[in-house]
Amino acid sequence: MDTHRYAVREIAKEVRGFYEQKRPFRLYHGSTYSTRAMHDPHAIVNTSDLNHILDINTASKFVIVEPNVPMDQLLKETLKHRLMPPVVPAFPGTTVGGTFAGTAAGSSSFKHGFFDHAVTWMEIVLANGTITTASRQRHPELLAGIVGTLGTIGITTLFQVQLVPATSNVDLRYIPVISMTEALDTMDACIKENHIDFVEGLIYGEKAPSYGVIAVGKMTANREHSATSFSSPGAPWFYERALQIGNITESIPIFEYVFRYDRGSFCMGRHCFGRIPLNNLTRRLTNSATHSQNMEQTIQSMHWADHFFIQDLVIPQESTPDMLRYLDESFGIYPLRLCPIRQWPETHASIGMRGYTEDTILNAAKFKEKNRDLERVVQELGGMKWLYSRNYYTENEFWDIYPQLEYKTLRTKYDAQYLPSVYEKVKYAEKRTRAPKPKGFWNWVFRRTSVLAMKHGSE
Ligand SMILES: Cc1cc2nc3c(=O)[nH]c(=O)nc-3n(C[C@H](O)[C@H](O)[C@H](O)COP(=O)(O)OP(=O)(O)OC[C@H]3O[C@@H](n4cnc5c(N)ncnc54)[C@H](O)[C@@H]3O)c2cc1C
Repeated sequence: MDTHRYAVREIAKEVRGFYEQKRPFRLYHGSTYSTRAMHDPHAIVNTSDLNHILDINTASKFVIVEPNVPMDQLLKETLKHRLMPPVVPAFPGTTVGGTFAGTAAGSSSFKHGFFDHAVTWMEIVLANGTITTASRQRHPELLAGIVGTLGTIGITTLFQVQLVPATSNVDLRYIPVISMTEALDTMDACIKENHIDFVEGLIYGEKAPSYGVIAVGKMTANREHSATSFSSPGAPWFYERALQIGNITESIPIFEYVFRYDRGSFCMGRHCFGRIPLNNLTRRLTNSATHSQNMEQTIQSMHWADHFFIQDLVIPQESTPDMLRYLDESFGIYPLRLCPIRQWPETHASIGMRGYTEDTILNAAKFKEKNRDLERVVQELGGMKWLYSRNYYTENEFWDIYPQLEYKTLRTKYDAQYLPSVYEKVKYAEKRTRAPKPKGFWNWVFRRTSVLAMKHGSE
């Protein structure tokens, strides 16, 4: 705890310095899953030392954790006590602080909502350098209002995260469905069954052998079904496996289940291969390069976010069919990942899309036009985009969707107006900012084999 206090005091000192000069700063914590290009390396507060778990309280079921602890470490440590956070995002390198500041959901969100719902207390260095805490009793407006504000109110330095009981395995049932209606009805019916722990849909579209697969998980301590591991390097990635496997149930170690999209980075790894077939050998050869953390570096360094639609959309449940129809007609990108999210007062669905369309790849104007259309439709359907992704909103449009008044009030109350606003952080800047240069063997290979190279002609 002393080391923690010392580190936080040092961060507070730095922040106070920036506050006195009214000089905006950004945060560096060592890694990122955001697709925004890196900012200039000036005016940075480095918090990368805050990467420890300070306590796991098994009696009251909570963990005290610093913000830069990645999800795989958090899950590994809590599982030792047969506990886990209620919602763990699918990529192991996502950090607690980044997940809280950027919001995240997963296949348990139908029950537990977003990751931040489990945060009951936090410590924060405010933008004026004051160290304070917020909980549901003390500064509740700060605890609730800071979620999703991407570090524009202060730097979180410690969290208390409520945990739920966990078992060693998940029995995962794959239910193939032949239509959108069947997919949504099946997901609803599974949720109503009330004794499941995880549910999500993978949508492959009308042209695939199966329109979609609903994957329903139940935590279990006993293995009643054949045991499976997803981590074998040549094995199909999870989205491929779900399509091929048919209507079966299998037993999976819970750690592997939670990070099932790590290999292949959901489906982004596919785009590294261009026309090269994806098979046991190619997966095996590129296994480490296509894990999510390495793929994020590829996405950043090769500016894939300039050409690929990497978007997560949160849509009210009743508008989900309209959204799926629109995505099919206008994008035709598959697979899509569908997660129901329990969120007061109504249930929403998160729809994750990763891919490209023939008419927009390497055509910046068309790419922007299509993104703008997506933003319009999401708004019309009463939804929101996850802000880690590419955004073209004008400032007025943005604040029509996201709650400006509450946000401004919070920034004024906590002296944060001198920091860049959420809008300034997420808006797409036409002028490209610094991104790390592609380096390493696989980056070199992917520059020649990826979908972009295929379309462009490799150098
Ligand atoms: C390709 C891709 C796939 C994704 N898939 C999923 C998914 O399947 N499910 C899901 O729920 N989400 C998904 N996300 C979203 C992801 O969970 C969020 O972008 C999350 O914020 C990333 O966490 P990070 O640790 O990489 O944080 P970063 O990207 O580094 O940070 C996110 C924001 O939080 C701020 N921040 C970080 N730490 C702190 C702190 N201590 N105090 C204050 N502010 C801080 C940063 O400044 C930044 O603005 C995906 C994102 C990408 C790019």
